[in-house]
Amino acid sequence: MPAPTYEFTAQKRLRRTRSRAVSNLPVFSVSSLKPHEIDPVYMTLVCPTCRTWVPINKPDTLRPKLSPHHTEKAGTEDPVRCPGSHRLVVIDVDVERWYQRLEEGLPQTDGRRSTRVIRKPKAGSAPAVMQIVGVTVDDKTARKLDEAHVQGCSTCSVRDNKGQTLRAVEVASRCADGRRLAQLAAHTKRLAPARRKAQMDREDWNDRREWGLRLLHEQQWDTVSRPVGDADLQRVRDALAALIKTLNPTKADAPQLTAWERADLMSAITLLATQEEQLSR
Ligand SMILES: [Zn+2]
Ligand SMILES: [Zn+2]
Repeated sequence: MPAPTYEFTAQKRLRRTRSRAVSNLPVFSVSSLKPHEIDPVYMTLVCPTCRTWVPINKPDTLRPKLSPHHTEKAGTEDPVRCPGSHRLVVIDVDVERWYQRLEEGLPQTDGRRSTRVIRKPKAGSAPAVMQIVGVTVDDKTARKLDEAHVQGCSTCSVRDNKGQTLRAVEVASRCADGRRLAQLAAHTKRLAPARRKAQMDREDWNDRREWGLRLLHEQQWDTVSRPVGDADLQRVRDALAALIKTLNPTKADAPQLTAWERADLMSAITLLATQEEQLSR
């Protein structure tokens, strides 16, 4: 039998399909943009060249770049590619700091803090972080899960000689699942009042968001119909404050926005922030 022969010639390798194109424009850092021009949660930003929202490609790698994009609206014939396509970026913001900057930037003009107090959109606190577990499973569901487990588990139940479940054994002698369920039931029972409050806060939160969007809408009409005054500036700031509040990433049980809703909201914030800048000049 002939010995197998091996081919030592190097195989021609397939070229990587990923684009290595890099923009001629210099690298820029995300932190050089204004906070309302970045969304570090979704890794999108306002392209410094064409001012449209653009995602950052491969943000977790060593060479994150701006996605290739056109400067015209989608569907335009012969679109022109923005020179900012494939531009290298340095991601140097974290979500918490970014949000802080976004909030702090609010009433600020010319680098000094305005003494004007921003009116609170509506009374009521934002939902607290504490009820995370209580939000996923309510007390009733947890109790039912626990009861169902006891019914079916011989370790967790005390039965009569006909096999009928009489009651649950004490927590310490239950099986691992049973113990977890008992704890969950006890935990959610304790949290129930807070949970109901959180539910109300969430509704309040949605109200606030709607309120902000309504103000934004009114503002857009107002700027075309009459000259701007102090009240308009205040209104823009109020709307901005309300919208920024709804973005808050630090509230773990705040209603999660879809990517689209969030993009919408960020565009609205950018628009308002720019308007605010122009009005307060
Ligand atoms: Zn661009
Ligand atoms: Zn069990």
